[in-house]
Amino acid sequence: MKKRLSLSEYTDGIISGNRMILSRAITLIESNLPSDKKLAQEVIEAVLPHTGKSVRLGITGVPGVGKSTFIEAFGKYLTNQQKKIAVLAIDPSSQLTKGSILGDKTRMEELSREPLAYIRPSPTGNSLGGVSHKTRETMLLCEAAGFEVIIIETVGVGQSETYVHGMVDFFLLLMLAGAGDELQGIKKGIMEMADLIAITKADSGNENQAKLAKIEYQNALHLFPPDGTGWFPEVVTCSATTLQGIAEIWELVEKHRDLLSKSGKFAENRQNQNLDWMNDFIKQTLEENFYSNKNVSLKTRDIQKAVSEGTKHPIHAAYELLEVFYKQ
Ligand code: GDP
Repeated sequence: MKKRLSLSEYTDGIISGNRMILSRAITLIESNLPSDKKLAQEVIEAVLPHTGKSVRLGITGVPGVGKSTFIEAFGKYLTNQQKKIAVLAIDPSSQLTKGSILGDKTRMEELSREPLAYIRPSPTGNSLGGVSHKTRETMLLCEAAGFEVIIIETVGVGQSETYVHGMVDFFLLLMLAGAGDELQGIKKGIMEMADLIAITKADSGNENQAKLAKIEYQNALHLFPPDGTGWFPEVVTCSATTLQGIAEIWELVEKHRDLLSKSGKFAENRQNQNLDWMNDFIKQTLEENFYSNKNVSLKTRDIQKAVSEGTKHPIHAAYELLEVFYKQ
């Protein structure tokens, strides 16, 4: 293991935009060692005043929809405008199945060579809740390092989208045209969270199908109640090959930000997200403390066995373990 830096070495390095130190600080955040956790929290606290200024963008879609190709094109569009962008990719499969939906292939190769871009696979953890905290903290470090647009990429097949939605300002859902549908395994709940749906691969003769899909999804979005921000989700078509739609998507992100900033909804959303963050953190810490507690783990095996054999009622069992936890 590489030697840890001091608190001021981390914070000064991050704030001055030193990528090597940023990467080391993210590694520190990923660590589950108690001493690292303490230092990581100190680093986050120290850089907090330098956070909050970026555009936080969540991007999701099923495997194969074209996420990495899109982010590569979109990211380059932004870096061409001299914007510093960071891409964090959450791959829920890697901790659950040890496989990888996002793929082992080198993703976003061209973008990763751009001096203004920083790409980092998101920290993995034992639980999705843990992943979400670490991703949020990573996002804050990237903001403190001066990145102006933070893209958080996630695979639209699980629960991680809800977490990501809870930490971004704008949520972009990528969809394929005419892919047999059933909403392509995308749950209705995810569509409901989208601020924008982009139909990908609208090129090479696929343009008309993409237009049809656009109308279809526009109709589907009309069925959802408005979210109270004054923003009505739009549907566009795009192509990472011809770059059609790429500039328009960024314009919509900016339009959304302007609209919500004027009405105060932008700040309100971030405040609510902070509250959720606090509550999630409490829940996660309690859970971790509970399961890592020695007395609890001493009893857990027997009690679990009794529950699975049907000799103990699950609720009685839960109370028994909670009592062990609280009575010490
Ligand atoms: P991901 O799994 O969602 O990250 O999808 P990828 O970005 O890896 O793309 C899946 C496949 O779709 C790849 O073979 C890409 O070359 C292809 N693809 C992605 N975007 C486009 C596009 O805009 N047009 C066309 N024609 N193909 C694309």
